[in-house]
Amino acid sequence: MKLKALNGFKDILPGEVELWQHVETTARGVFTRFDFSEIRLPVLESTELFARSIGETTDIVEKEMYTFVDKKITMRPEATASLLRAYIEHGLYVQRPVQRLFTIGPMFRHERPQKGRLRQFHQMDVEVLGSHSPMVDAELMAMGSMLLQELGLTVSLEINSLGCPQCRPGFRTELLNFLAERMEHLCDDCKRRSATNPLRVLDCKNSGCRHQVLTAPSILDHLCSDCADHFAAVREGMERLQVPYTLNRFMVRGLDYYTRTTFEFITTDLGAQAAVGAGGRYDGLIEQLGGPKDTPGIGFAMGMERLVLLLQQKQEGQDIEVYTPQLFIIALGQEAMQACHLLAHALRSRGLRVAMDLEGRSLKSQMKQADKSGANWVLIVGDNELRDGQGVLRNMQTQDQRQVALEAEALAGMVRLPMQSGIADDRSIDR
Ligand code: ATP
Ligand code: MG
Repeated sequence: MKLKALNGFKDILPGEVELWQHVETTARGVFTRFDFSEIRLPVLESTELFARSIGETTDIVEKEMYTFVDKKITMRPEATASLLRAYIEHGLYVQRPVQRLFTIGPMFRHERPQKGRLRQFHQMDVEVLGSHSPMVDAELMAMGSMLLQELGLTVSLEINSLGCPQCRPGFRTELLNFLAERMEHLCDDCKRRSATNPLRVLDCKNSGCRHQVLTAPSILDHLCSDCADHFAAVREGMERLQVPYTLNRFMVRGLDYYTRTTFEFITTDLGAQAAVGAGGRYDGLIEQLGGPKDTPGIGFAMGMERLVLLLQQKQEGQDIEVYTPQLFIIALGQEAMQACHLLAHALRSRGLRVAMDLEGRSLKSQMKQADKSGANWVLIVGDNELRDGQGVLRNMQTQDQRQVALEAEALAGMVRLPMQSGIADDRSIDR
């Protein structure tokens, strides 16, 4: 039997991983500038945590979770629930009235794998806990936009408000009436959902349902005055920070906990998988999970697979630094190998990236490896040179080379020099 990775699970190999590191480094930089601290969370949580937060009748909880049924534990399908669990469990609200936290890692959903849609995927997730301020909503969206911009991506931002428990019931009734008239045109899932969770129908991916809801009523026409004021202030904040956005009156999110501001970062470059990031407010969720009363929250998650795909498509990030060795040591003969083994160790302990072939291959084969490795410098040491405590150091860019002493400190200094400088002495070696 040929062993392969599971369907929807993917290895990220050297060559691609540099792009992932670039996305992560850029994100950490942006998040830190906005005063966020990192939190690392477990991958497994109690099933109940997700059922209670995301909602029993959402796609995620109904059909996408990886659950160990007998143990009542689930591989996290998203990060917000886990992050709030940690926030409550450790009383992080005591340390700081408004917490700004981010986390990066794998999430698991049993979906049909396609381009940009995996079963193990990765999110960068940011949350602000304990603030009612609409300025926070605007700032979060501005931060997401800044990150995408710094990555070299152009995506559009769509925003909406989902109201609150005051105003949503009225909207729900009107939506129910609207759906009742179109029931026979809805997919089976939506027929069932419209009774329990009609807002979900607005989020259905089925093209028939999408067509039906084009004329659905909008929650924006049903906001209570507090929610309307909040949303107006959010939009004002967006103008102040000069973040372009469009209003999407029908956007709902696939998770039940959202209230008020919701938003998605959208691209058309990936075909059907349009959202690269999404989030919103969840003002009642912390209390609902057993946290302190009246503690609002807002956050978003960006899908890293989709960001990386976009970067690859746009050929962005071509100039990312790939860690090639600074020095490749070619040792010829048993004694030279042993001496160079120690020399490489000494250079590495001085902070240099050093590569060396330990298989005793021929000079020709090692030269090939050195070329391929992208090393700036190559040091060639044969048993004869070793007797004089010498080697030949070659600058791979200029092809200049010279005799050098096999002394770690001095060598480290030479290898650290900018490539163009130094090395005038041009003694060639016998090949
Ligand atoms: P979609 O509408 O694409 O299914 P979603 O609404 O389920 O997305 P969220 O739960 O809001 O997505 O997650 C936020 C982001 O995480 C998405 O915008 C997307 O970039 C990414 N994401 C979600 N599910 C997957 C997946 N299965 N594979 C890869 N990325 C994903
Ligand atoms: Mg989804």
